[in-house]
Amino acid sequence: MFCFFMPKRRFSQNFLTDRGIAERIVAFLEPGAVDTVLEIGAGRGILTEIIAASGARLYSFEIDRDLIENLNNKFAPYKNVTIINRDFLAIIPDEYTAEKFKLIGNIPYDITSPLLEWMLRFRETITRAVITTQKELADRIAASPDSKDWAPISIFHQCFFDIRKVMSISGGAFYPPPNVKSATLLFSANEKHHIPFWDDFERIVRQAFHQRRKLLSNNLMHLPGLTRENIHAAIASLGLPQNIRAEQLAIEDFIRLTKAVLSVKNA
Ligand code: SAH
Repeated sequence: MFCFFMPKRRFSQNFLTDRGIAERIVAFLEPGAVDTVLEIGAGRGILTEIIAASGARLYSFEIDRDLIENLNNKFAPYKNVTIINRDFLAIIPDEYTAEKFKLIGNIPYDITSPLLEWMLRFRETITRAVITTQKELADRIAASPDSKDWAPISIFHQCFFDIRKVMSISGGAFYPPPNVKSATLLFSANEKHHIPFWDDFERIVRQAFHQRRKLLSNNLMHLPGLTRENIHAAIASLGLPQNIRAEQLAIEDFIRLTKAVLSVKNA
């Protein structure tokens, strides 16, 4: 079976070959007949097949034209499956579904960051996502405060999703085996944080981590329109010490910090 499709480096193709692992990955998505599912990078369809059998309305995207004919043939019997030869990052969910949806993909390292941006953009329509990617990146996304992995990307995603690393997968489960380990993340939409001033929040979080080893106050000093005194006052108003670093702050702290910075700025 494998000789038909030579994996392409250009599309970072590493096809999952372990059926048991594929079953477990899909189980985390909990697909069912009431669901709409978008799949990123169908490849040879190992996940596609399991999701298809759940009865979910499935849109499976694959950028590599050479894989499409096989996918179309394989899924022709399934009326609930549509195979689409497009770059997933360029799609807008509205083109395919007006419903909220679930998202799944075993995705290459190089599209993980852009996909995370995509997910933030369409966060209100995603109910659940199961994303398998390079372990190192997965660890960052699922990080907790006060760890070296805690970063803007973990913060932004955890504002909207509960994120759990549910599985580690060794290279041997893929063909060809990647040099690095993979991990599967489960994202479930949450309603925990209400952030009305998102743009300010985003700017402040990014600036707070600008130089990780520096103090929070030294990083924030570079925000336009703020003085050293403003920043110190904002940090003090939160009851935090002046020598704190960004990685020590939890999401709630960043929300409070944003409010404090906005209020000293407008004072
Ligand atoms: N889901 C399959 C394939 C994993 S390999 C499996 O688990 O075996 C990743 C797949 O994503 C490849 O088939 C690759 O061609 C495809 N791909 C890479 N970038 C893509 C993009 N931007 N949009 C859609 N598919 C993409």
